[in-house]
Amino acid sequence: MRLRVDRDRCIGSSNCVVVMPDVFDQDEAEGLVQLLDDSGAGHDEDALHDVAYACPAQAIEVVEGG
Ligand code: SF4
Repeated sequence: MRLRVDRDRCIGSSNCVVVMPDVFDQDEAEGLVQLLDDSGAGHDEDALHDVAYACPAQAIEVVEGG
């Protein structure tokens, strides 16, 4: 499993950062999402899917098998 984020879609709502601050961050300049760990290691896969689902910009993708 791998995580991908699309900074062109991100609207900087912070939802992902609030829920999983050790996986997601926002850059200081634009407030757009940054991945701290694209493996999602140590996190429940369902929780990662929930974060992706909750993103208002559909900017987070959980890629199976990667
Ligand atoms: S939840 Fe989505 S829109 Fe909000 S900061 Fe994270 S990636 Fe960006």
